[in-house]
Amino acid sequence: MRRLTLGAMLAGAMGCVGAPRAPEPLNPVRFLLINDVYVADTLADGTGGLARVATVRNRLADQGPVLFLLAGDFLSPSLLSKYYGGRQMVEALNAAKLDYATFGNHEFELDRDTLVARIGASSFKWLSSNCTLADGSRFPKVLPWDTVTVSGHLVGLFGLTLSGSYRRYVRCADPDSAARQAIDTLEKMEADLIVGLTHQTIAADRNLLSREPRLDLILGGHEHEAHDSVVSGRHLLKADANARSAQFVTLWGGKEKWRQAVGLVRIDSRLPEDTLVAPLVERWSDSLRNRLGPERKVATTEIGMDARDAVSRRQESALGNLVTDAVRAGTGADVALLNAGSMRLDDVIPPGEVSNYQLESIFLFADETRMVTFPLGLARLREVLEHGVSEASLGKGGFLQVSGLSFAYDPSRPSGSRLVGDIRGPGGQAIAADDTLTVAFGVYPSCEGGDGYRLPEAKASCQQWESAPRAADLLLQYVTDSLGGRVRAPAAGRISRTGSTNPG
Ligand SMILES: [Zn+2]
Repeated sequence: MRRLTLGAMLAGAMGCVGAPRAPEPLNPVRFLLINDVYVADTLADGTGGLARVATVRNRLADQGPVLFLLAGDFLSPSLLSKYYGGRQMVEALNAAKLDYATFGNHEFELDRDTLVARIGASSFKWLSSNCTLADGSRFPKVLPWDTVTVSGHLVGLFGLTLSGSYRRYVRCADPDSAARQAIDTLEKMEADLIVGLTHQTIAADRNLLSREPRLDLILGGHEHEAHDSVVSGRHLLKADANARSAQFVTLWGGKEKWRQAVGLVRIDSRLPEDTLVAPLVERWSDSLRNRLGPERKVATTEIGMDARDAVSRRQESALGNLVTDAVRAGTGADVALLNAGSMRLDDVIPPGEVSNYQLESIFLFADETRMVTFPLGLARLREVLEHGVSEASLGKGGFLQVSGLSFAYDPSRPSGSRLVGDIRGPGGQAIAADDTLTVAFGVYPSCEGGDGYRLPEAKASCQQWESAPRAADLLLQYVTDSLGGRVRAPAAGRISRTGSTNPG
């Protein structure tokens, strides 16, 4: 019975007519959820696309009230957001008639004024019960919670985002106590249904459901795979990232008697594009083509490259080796360093064709990851490498990928004295104590103290940072010219871990 009812509703959403219709639940409250949507456009594999999601939303809305929600991570990072700071997403989501969004961790990568401007331009509402400006005041227009009447039921919603080391302008308080306060408030307001719109881990969401029997439903994000689990009859739902799917949930029955039916809606070519959203998305794609030229194949990689943060922030990686080799070749420096956090792909590049857009998508910061070159003595180089390995145990962005040198370190030794033995040059020879090397390193660590680096030696180069080469251009030039369009495994063994087996 549940299945049939849901099936009929989903059939409506997908536009199939003629499916047998079971009696529909009385006065249902319905939600459509997407999360972690970095691109508005259809993906390379033909799935996704906000214009199609808008079609689903509009078909559901034709049948009855539906709330359309986005559980965070959509203004950054992406190729378009590097240039437009998420403006393209707000425009598309406005046209798609989104009702509510909450912050994902990636929203806080925008600078304060840009984020405030995007919130200001949103025709949907923003919810956050735990993230505020650093002085504790609310972001303009962001509500800790909200209520809305749907099919005669008072629906209470609140937003929640995992805490983290965000930019200085933002402060995210403990999500659990913020959730409790929001639920207390919504209960006092006699909400019939309480829904959390969250951006945190599945484990944290499930704990929240277990701890809070008054919470009826969590619509979440942060994980990129669709998820549906149940805690004491209440669902925790997440959709696939980039709108490959949307979660659709129907609740009926009323306060303390809610029943829930859930279905995953695949967003693919069976769905026509909404005629309001599609041209907006297309216009933004055009502006990207104007900047970068058309997307084209630039190389074939014989190896898969695991470019996930969990890998490249803890150990040397094939992509880190490739990029630093490219930087060293293109700048002519003796040594190239790359803080792993400047690679933003956080994905696996499979063997096969690689496009110019894929290479461009590795570097998504507004400074374009420009590489400055400056002299550095061996003792100072050692200090810089020490700082890099101190970030490894925490998987932080300051961990260094390197080219033009190799070294070993012992993570069990005290911070600042973990390097073991000599730092060796590309031929394996120890670099002499009185050598001064030219080092190429990004603007963020070299010029702005990013990731805790202090490099007064870079000062002169930093004055002309805007004319320094972009990492993406150096990489493109390297794979096309030096490698002749064929990427093989770069020489490895640059960073070795020694000493005890203590994982540090
Ligand atoms: Zn996230």
